[in-house]
Amino acid sequence: MKRFVVLCVALLISLFSRGAFAQEGLTKIADNVYSYVDVKNGSPANSFAANAGIIVGKDGIVVIDTLISAKEAQRFIKDIRRVSDKPIRYVVNTHYHLDHAFGNAEFARLGAVIVSHANDRKNLESNGEPTLKNAKNFGLTDEDMAGTTIALPTLTFTERMTMELGGERIELIYVAPSHTSGSILVHLPDKKLLFAGDILFTDFHPFMAEGDIAGWLKNLDYIAALDVERIIPGHGPLSGKKDIADMKSYLVAFDTKARELAAKSGDAAAIAAELKKSLPARAQGEWMIPYNLKAKYLKEKTD
Ligand SMILES: [Zn+2]
Repeated sequence: MKRFVVLCVALLISLFSRGAFAQEGLTKIADNVYSYVDVKNGSPANSFAANAGIIVGKDGIVVIDTLISAKEAQRFIKDIRRVSDKPIRYVVNTHYHLDHAFGNAEFARLGAVIVSHANDRKNLESNGEPTLKNAKNFGLTDEDMAGTTIALPTLTFTERMTMELGGERIELIYVAPSHTSGSILVHLPDKKLLFAGDILFTDFHPFMAEGDIAGWLKNLDYIAALDVERIIPGHGPLSGKKDIADMKSYLVAFDTKARELAAKSGDAAAIAAELKKSLPARAQGEWMIPYNLKAKYLKEKTD
């Protein structure tokens, strides 16, 4: 009896702890599609809460983004192996930023071909190594980045690319420069599903330092007209068309107000406090407001 009680308690504890960590591991989004979504721990070592996912075809797996480090990629690979033991054939980088592409080498080692837009291959080629060397500036320790090396995409495209992996059709789409000059959308038309990368941040203040606002709005309009029901953002929970509209409002509000305020003052903290009042509310990443101001709007003034 005593043993039975101990067993029940152990079972309950394991159930509760699974519940408490329900956001950990890959979430099934649709048949053959799994992703990290709604990651709450936004620390640098936890890939700034970046989402990443997989599409499992009959012949193998396509990985969408690879997280921030070798260690994080290994965690991802472990989670992938809980879902499927098929070979990992391709990695698609939605863009070149560290939290989406610095895990590439771990997948290349398994034989995966890494695919990106030509512009962001160039961006990773010129910025990858310096960023890795200065990872401390992003709040990352040597231990966080242990074993991390940059692996560049070996296959690139400029407008569109279609992948057909054992019954799963995947369209890689480039609309215009946006979050970066080579950010792409990953569309699964048969599933009405889209991986938006960092073209969509939901409930996170977006990183806009390299943003091309006009092109970014074009991307959001493109998504709004697309036949999709569910959207996996680069950061945040599983999203939909309403989040695309919110993202558009955010970018327009930020861009308009930041230009207006930056024309009058160079005080990033004061402008950020003022900006916050007029921006749509977002629960996470508030530090991005002064960062974006300094890196884009105040910088444009002095350039
Ligand atoms: Zn990004």
